[in-house]
Amino acid sequence: MTASPQTAEPAPAPTADAAATVARLHATFATGRTKPLAWRKAQLRALRRLLVEEEDACTAALHADLGKSATEAYTTEIGFTRHEIDHTLRHLDRWLRPRRVPVPLALRPARARTVREPLGTVLIISPWNYPLQLALSPLVGALAAGNTAVVKPSELAPATSALLAERLPQALDPRAVAVVEGGVPETTALLEHRFDHVFYTGNGTVGRIVMAAAARHLTPVTLELGGKSPALVEPDTDLATAARRIVWGKFMNAGQTCVAPDYVLAVGEAGPALEPHLTAAIREMYGPDPARSADYGRIVNGRHHDRLTALLTDGRIVTGGDHDRDRRYLAPTVLADVDPDAPVMREEIFGPILPIVRVPDLDAALAFLTVRDKPLALYAFTDSPTTRRRLTTETSSGALSFGIPTAHLTVPGLPFGGVGESGQGGYHGEHSLDTFSHTKAVLDKPLRADPLRLVYPPFTARKSRI
Ligand code: NAD
Repeated sequence: MTASPQTAEPAPAPTADAAATVARLHATFATGRTKPLAWRKAQLRALRRLLVEEEDACTAALHADLGKSATEAYTTEIGFTRHEIDHTLRHLDRWLRPRRVPVPLALRPARARTVREPLGTVLIISPWNYPLQLALSPLVGALAAGNTAVVKPSELAPATSALLAERLPQALDPRAVAVVEGGVPETTALLEHRFDHVFYTGNGTVGRIVMAAAARHLTPVTLELGGKSPALVEPDTDLATAARRIVWGKFMNAGQTCVAPDYVLAVGEAGPALEPHLTAAIREMYGPDPARSADYGRIVNGRHHDRLTALLTDGRIVTGGDHDRDRRYLAPTVLADVDPDAPVMREEIFGPILPIVRVPDLDAALAFLTVRDKPLALYAFTDSPTTRRRLTTETSSGALSFGIPTAHLTVPGLPFGGVGESGQGGYHGEHSLDTFSHTKAVLDKPLRADPLRLVYPPFTARKSRI
């Protein structure tokens, strides 16, 4: 591995002690070391180099943790993060330029502008399902904004966690970036300390714990949570293409994707009409026996496997249903005739089970959507401009996407994040800069010539009208 300019100095001894780690990073930030643009760009380039040079190690770790194929590991994790870095490097100068703001007439002459300043030391807590991307992509934003950062990978993806713990401090400035491995005790220990921002990706139950811990220090949080993202399908559309895209978005990473379509909300006759198309699309992508497909992932552990297989009885199995706990395999499964109150519809599935829930018409679909939690994403497959308009104005979700699931997060200019139960705050591209910076208001009024004397006390009737 090529050493970054910073690794020429001896790295401090790694420490498992949360207090010492956090204090060390605060001290680094206080030196101003992370503020120059050159430092930020050097970190981003070093991170990019790491992803290029260690691509094989990353691919192997992702395969060990989740059975990810090399292609999926590249497109959704390694390559995804590289694109995020490239986009950030391309635009960082512009994003960091102060922005002029008009000054009201009464205050002139004066200049007003906003400048982005780093927050300080941030904590990034990431989950197991995209264990590389969801640790590194927020880190890109944190470093680009000039912060020091503690990364806490998920203990449920141990191979990726170990890789990050070993390689990140070697590749990046070890005074500014630390990786703390572990689960609940280690994260709890970290959260006792004051950070300047906590960026958490995971489930809402832990999101509440993180937010409560951060509140003790008045630390702002970004919560990237999950939920049940619906795929609304109307019968008048191209059902074969809709089915292929839903299958692609749903069964990638064996359904363990926060923005995967959780269920199909089928309007009118779209439900029965979609069934053969979904079956055909699964066969087209994963073959007659997905257990033999190198492109189909595995369930992260036995506990999640048990949770998922218990949901298989909540509907008529259209296709799939096979499972093997020892190999953490669960076939891509479509369930029809699903009751909206069945357990599979009560919680985020986060696995390869796709229920189809039927509603008679668009009004019923909107009623169904609006009484439930605001999802991370809402997908719609329709040819109707009225449906598009009504979904845009009458529903709320982190994102709304027509014609394709999950792909909105590959558009770097779009903010990625939830609303309500699916989270708060957003990131990617310039939105990451917003998240990891403070936008400071700067006003500059020359002292020479002082027309403000017109408004100083003692007040007169004329002054009160200025
Ligand atoms: P997880 O179990 O890996 O937990 C996430 C992180 O929280 C881990 O680092 C873990 O160590 C830590 N953690 C767990 N319990 C904790 C506790 N009691 N106190 C402090 N820290 C604790 O992952 P998960 O939560 O099972 O992830 C799946 C969820 O994440 C799903 O709901 C999914 O939709 C959501 N998710 C959201 C996004 C997004 O970008 N919005 C991305 C991926 C996953």
